[in-house]
Amino acid sequence: IKIQQVSKFFKRRGQVTEALRDINLEFQQGTFVSLIGPSGCGKSTLLRIVGGLTEIDQGEVTIGGLSPGGAQRQKQFGFVPQSPALFPWRTVLENMNVPFEVNRKGGDAESENREDPIELLQSVGLGDFVHSYAKELSGGMQQRVGIARAFGSGAPILLMDEPFSALDEITRERISYQLLDIWESHQKTVLFVTHSLREAVLLSDKVVVMSARPGQVAKVIDINLPRP
Ligand code: ADP
Ligand code: ADP
Repeated sequence: IKIQQVSKFFKRRGQVTEALRDINLEFQQGTFVSLIGPSGCGKSTLLRIVGGLTEIDQGEVTIGGLSPGGAQRQKQFGFVPQSPALFPWRTVLENMNVPFEVNRKGGDAESENREDPIELLQSVGLGDFVHSYAKELSGGMQQRVGIARAFGSGAPILLMDEPFSALDEITRERISYQLLDIWESHQKTVLFVTHSLREAVLLSDKVVVMSARPGQVAKVIDINLPRP
């Protein structure tokens, strides 16, 4: 992922907010990257721009040297939002199929080398809940479904915007380790927005520290913690 000279302004009722100015970042495939910084520094905006959900005002984001548009771009990304968007009256397994239903509507045949959704659920400790309705699960369990689903979606890049922010500290800690486990067995690039420095250091290869003042260079810190 190459982010070059990216700037973003929001104009609302005559007021212009500068969300990002001249952001330059580059990540190799398979890297786990955390974005941290004070509220309003543009973390979500940057994530959304990379995923093609927000338009860029200036600059460019390329993925493997290309800037795919539309459906091609959508296939590159899996999203894990703050609260997992599960269908409450579908089972956990049915919820795992949602990304593939969406892609089929876009004209794609179902991926043949698709990962087994039950194995993915087992890897986040939900093997016993495959046939439960999503609404029966605790918040932490639902978020684990969201993570397993994103890892099984076929997308090489996962964008996670404070995925644990609604969870208590203990649940957060447990899920962090499960996220690490599942990430280590896949070769996905993860961009992970968090308010927790601890979480960022625990999980990441690189931590991007953004400043409250647009235009200040985002600092990239290599963590280099040995992986098991
Ligand atoms: P963070 O995720 O770091 O908290 P955001 O990316 O949400 O920061 O926001 C960056 C800045 O852009 C903030 O000043 C915010 O108010 C502004 N902003 C974000 N989204 C919008 C929007 N849709 N309309 C207007 N301003 C926005
Ligand atoms: P998590 O850490 O995933 O948020 P909780 O702390 O909420 O989980 O729940 C503790 C344990 O209680 C879960 O791991 C699960 O085994 C069980 N549990 C929670 N909600 C349900 C439910 N709706 N049905 C069955 N078991 C549940």
